Amino acid sequence: MLTLSKVFGEQNELVPFIASYKNELETVKVLHTLPAAKQQRFNELTHELLDSLDDVHDLKACAERSRSNREHGNAVYTKRSKTNESDRRESLLLACHLYTQAILQAENVHEELCLGYANRGMALQEFGLYKEAYDDCECALEYGYPQKLQHKLIMRQAHCAWQLGDVHKLSEHLSWLEQQQLNAGYVNQLEQLQQQLTKLQEQQSSEPKEELASEQVPSLSAHSGIKGRHMVATQSIQSGDIIFKEQTACFVPLEPGLICQQCAASVLYAPIPCSQCHQRVVYCSRRCRQLNEQIHSYECAGYKKNLFTLLGVSHLALRMVLCYVQEWQTELVRGSSVQEKWKMLMDKARKCYDWSSASQGLLSLCMMSHLDKAASEELIYYALCANLLQVYLHKCTNFYEQLGVDAREDWDLLIAALILRCAGQLLCNGHVGDTILLRSQCHMMESKLWRAPFRLHLGQMHKFDSVALTTALNLPYLALCNHACAPSIRLHCDGRAVSCLAAKQIEADEEIFNCYTLDYRNSSCAMRQAQLQQTFKFRCKCINCTGSKPDEIFLSFNRYRCEFCAHIFVPSKQEEFKWWESESNLAIKCSKCQATQLFNWYGILRNTLEFCSEQQQRRKAYKAFEELDTWLLDYHSLKLHLAQQLIAACLTAKADGATFDDIDYKQLSRILDHLLAGVAAQHGADSMTYISHLTYLMDLAAFGKYKCSSEQLRAVRTAINYLPTDTKRIFVNYYNDFIEQRSAANGNANANANA
Ligand SMILES: [Zn+2]
Ligand SMILES: [Zn+2]
Ligand SMILES: [Zn+2]
Ligand SMILES: [Zn+2]
Repeated sequence: MLTLSKVFGEQNELVPFIASYKNELETVKVLHTLPAAKQQRFNELTHELLDSLDDVHDLKACAERSRSNREHGNAVYTKRSKTNESDRRESLLLACHLYTQAILQAENVHEELCLGYANRGMALQEFGLYKEAYDDCECALEYGYPQKLQHKLIMRQAHCAWQLGDVHKLSEHLSWLEQQQLNAGYVNQLEQLQQQLTKLQEQQSSEPKEELASEQVPSLSAHSGIKGRHMVATQSIQSGDIIFKEQTACFVPLEPGLICQQCAASVLYAPIPCSQCHQRVVYCSRRCRQLNEQIHSYECAGYKKNLFTLLGVSHLALRMVLCYVQEWQTELVRGSSVQEKWKMLMDKARKCYDWSSASQGLLSLCMMSHLDKAASEELIYYALCANLLQVYLHKCTNFYEQLGVDAREDWDLLIAALILRCAGQLLCNGHVGDTILLRSQCHMMESKLWRAPFRLHLGQMHKFDSVALTTALNLPYLALCNHACAPSIRLHCDGRAVSCLAAKQIEADEEIFNCYTLDYRNSSCAMRQAQLQQTFKFRCKCINCTGSKPDEIFLSFNRYRCEFCAHIFVPSKQEEFKWWESESNLAIKCSKCQATQLFNWYGILRNTLEFCSEQQQRRKAYKAFEELDTWLLDYHSLKLHLAQQLIAACLTAKADGATFDDIDYKQLSRILDHLLAGVAAQHGADSMTYISHLTYLMDLAAFGKYKCSSEQLRAVRTAINYLPTDTKRIFVNYYNDFIEQRSAANGNANANANA
């Protein structure tokens, strides 16, 4: 099989060195105007690569795996307890999980898909996930559920529509059912639902319709002046206020199958995969699948080939072209030659606009790029990616037909040039979104997690302690912000939308800064400058880089006391700072006596983590943690890391049945206080890392064993508000179910969090 690196390696040798960069069009032209023999080989390689990436699955084997999961699910579902509520729920969740596996493994075998969906819908409905159950019935019908049994699914959909209060769908399904020959049991159900429909209709006609006010916070303007494009506050902004929200048309998930491809939702109880591309693309709902249909029709073949993960930023560049090309086409069709077409578009890109009202396509067109400063090999690499994707669009999709253009050769050049241009822009303007996820050892339908949809059992909150980078987004409005190592903003993602909050008080006329690297608390000046130079081609002269002690705060999280001479030192090399995260065994040496540190305490504490179900081991761990103070100073990063590991391990042990006594709670509360204070100092109390650690506080508070001040509770409620919609729902429910009642009992009334 050919690999990308092998093909790019060989193609690279066919392409001449690009001595002087003109623009994206001229760069891709180089790949199209090679001497005949070389050109032929070059093109062959691209095609051979695309062919060889085809990944054909044995559908018979897939169907068998799917069936076996479904049958396992059926067995669990049928044997569910009719008397014990919590046993019944656990069986339901397990059955749902097995049905999801059946759906994912069925690939494109329709009879397996339709049975998998039909059965999952049944279990989901019983668990109370009506929206998901409704969609599953629809999927089962789509994949050819037997006609003579369809009334079962329609009845289920009618029931779900009733639960969801959807009058339109309910009446639609009921009228269909009225036309059918039904047995007595179904007639009875039908009559009950008809009564419910009447009730719903009466209710809805008496309720006034709520008007949704759109949230607009116009407090800044983007300026274009001598400093280039940048953002300035037009009035003073309080710390924590939303400065603006940007909703992007264009993002890609960073990992296959983890979040909804359309809305980026990460709480997926019942993922609906595209059945054509090996479960790499999933949706939270049929509606999302439909909204993404056109874009996905251009990407499905690529996902099937697993082409996009190989290409990194160029995938998002392709997505940009797919999203905005219609808007850009207005300019592109005007010119008569390919050069003229390109010039028309670039003339438009060079102008200044009222950025706050410009369309996203226009904003994107105008984003900066540093391809002109890139080394030849870097430039050729991105040009090869762009070429590959353009050939892919032509060979594997109907993109060109949809575009409706003739002069094929010209458009090959233009599309490749646009992909290259977007990649160049994204290299210095692209954003990566993070979110809180269920930790990877658990799955959404874990039977011990849920009491009801979006309602966790007591003591399960800490399972949502994982923070991951989930999306790569194009946010051209945010990209107007210049860099500073201490940013004035904080970003919170909710799917495709990003809220930009003031991280500090910002005065009128003050410039608003984003941070393109790790900030000054989490990186040394040298680390940042290297990255800024490499990617963004400039040197930062912000106050944190030019002061007399630029690394003081960063180093304060990394100070050790020498085990031999008691001298206080920091590591000397960059890679030594987070040595515990690296695979290789790094020797950390004292800067004074040069002795290699033994770090025996590290091994001792790590070893106890695995046995936190045993009280004696936990005691040992608490003691070992206390002793860290001798070797790790202040809020040392490693100490925070170990605190997090220890608390997580203990809460997991408790969730698995370990019993805690007062000493446990006291010790854990103390360690948690240190952890939260340290993470607030290092990342900020509104960072996702901090919020992920609040899950520990929420569990301890829910047990009634952590004394929360009303101020702390307020901080928890504020932090929860920064979460994406679905995740927030889980956190708010947990807070209201277990913490608010306790705090109300302790005299903190009115502490209810709002979803
Ligand atoms: Zn979605
Ligand atoms: Zn697909
Ligand atoms: Zn700086
Ligand atoms: Zn020493």
